Amino acid sequence: DSYLNEHYTFDNFVEGDCNRLGRSAGLAVAQRPGVTSFNPLMIYGSVGLGKTHLIQAIGNYIKNTQTNKFVLYVTSEKFCNQFINAIKNNTLQAFTNFYMQVDCLIIDDVQFLAGKEKTQESFFHIFNHLHQSGKQIIMSSDRAPRELAGMQDRLLSRFKWGLTADVQQPDFETRIAILQKKLQADGIYIEDKVIEYLAHSIDTNVREMEGVIVSLMAHASLNRKEIDMDLARTTLKNIVVDNEKEVTVDSILDAVTSHFDVNMSDLKSKSRKKETVFPRQIAMYLMKEFTNLPLKSIGYHFGGRDHSTVIHAVQTISIMLETDKEVEKTMQKLYKYFNRVRV
Ligand code: ADP
Ligand code: MG
Repeated sequence: DSYLNEHYTFDNFVEGDCNRLGRSAGLAVAQRPGVTSFNPLMIYGSVGLGKTHLIQAIGNYIKNTQTNKFVLYVTSEKFCNQFINAIKNNTLQAFTNFYMQVDCLIIDDVQFLAGKEKTQESFFHIFNHLHQSGKQIIMSSDRAPRELAGMQDRLLSRFKWGLTADVQQPDFETRIAILQKKLQADGIYIEDKVIEYLAHSIDTNVREMEGVIVSLMAHASLNRKEIDMDLARTTLKNIVVDNEKEVTVDSILDAVTSHFDVNMSDLKSKSRKKETVFPRQIAMYLMKEFTNLPLKSIGYHFGGRDHSTVIHAVQTISIMLETDKEVEKTMQKLYKYFNRVRV
């Protein structure tokens, strides 16, 4: 398995000034992996601007056109975890051999390797082997290589051997094109002026644009109406304006107790009953998300628990959110208590 998501393609990646260099370099690499001078290819830029989409599109292109090539997509986080496990299980050689067999290695969010000396060392050796064998390496990062503090110089200097291209915030016209493409893919028709209104209003990143489309569709089907200017305005108002509203400890406690129908005193007690533990962990998670309280203060609201309990709760819920659709749905509902949309 290459661990690629086949939905990320060049066809559904909208080109604009914001990503032109990265996209065209990416296409060149996709057509002739390991052969162009764009090796490694490093795409950087802030969150939600299409880095993962682009590097996976390259992988999918290679996988589909050169079926004999072993393409592998991995996040740096996963790479780190695999490395740690390999040490634990005494399988470091197998780990290294596996990565050295790859024809095209796509490694996402390399900033995650910062400060992880041993993992960087291992990546360095794999990188060298692949590069010397004419294999393609593609990376993404949330910042420019020169801003990657905690990364070994020898690794940074290799990142610069190939091409480094940034992705930026899409401009107005590109935002329109992206919205049109997404709506078209979902088979939704919206008037041009509504699209323009949306493109004007959401100027942060593409992921947020997608979030707004999802909310629009939800609102439209809920109210059994079309996505018109009216609906667009109210939807955006909920997302953009009410987002500013502060979420407090008390509002979180209220939302959690009423949603799960638990007593405030139980929630704040040391009870280990399943019916209270889960809501309590959710409440801790929400406090971590929405308030600036230090973990210790969060623990204080729940019978004076220490910060490690809070960390555990946050981790537990984070994992559940990733793996359990019901928990994700519950969280969506809780966000609605605060007039927020989880995107
Ligand atoms: P990043 O990895 O930079 O945080 P992603 O690649 O995950 O961002 O992009 C966030 C979302 O926005 C994805 O669903 C992606 O498909 C979409 N997206 C980003 N840029 C574009 C683009 N130029 N055209 C179409 N969709 C895009
Ligand atoms: Mg990404």
